[in-house]
Amino acid sequence: MTRLTKHFQLSEFIVSDRHPELAARIEQTPQRIANLTRLCCLVLEPLRLNFGAAVRINSGLRSSALNEAIGGSPTTQHVYGEAADIVVEGVPAEQVYTYLRIAALDTTTKDAICQLFWYKKSNFCHVSIPSFVAPKPCRIGIFEK
Ligand SMILES: [Zn+2]
Repeated sequence: MTRLTKHFQLSEFIVSDRHPELAARIEQTPQRIANLTRLCCLVLEPLRLNFGAAVRINSGLRSSALNEAIGGSPTTQHVYGEAADIVVEGVPAEQVYTYLRIAALDTTTKDAICQLFWYKKSNFCHVSIPSFVAPKPCRIGIFEK
């Protein structure tokens, strides 16, 4: 059991509802673990503190095989451990999106978040941190799916 930060374990990021067999084979490299820890410190711990509720990870670290199997974007930051699809227990995804959007735009915290998407119908938010591996433009948006 590897603890990343006070409230997050590595195992919480190595998950897949649809393909647990692929999730079980994800390679946990020091770089990926460092990125996941950075994601926790910059985004997920402050988010948990703000709402006073647990943050559930629907999808965290992915292998290329897992990402392909679930139809993820080929350029996704999930494969680097720089992104997570999240739900805050008891908090509508819209509120989580609004909070993270403010954090992403605030001058004091804007370097913490690279991309933020609210998937309305699926009811979760995708959030990523700035990448050291494959830098991406910052984007914030809403998807109907
Ligand atoms: Zn995602």
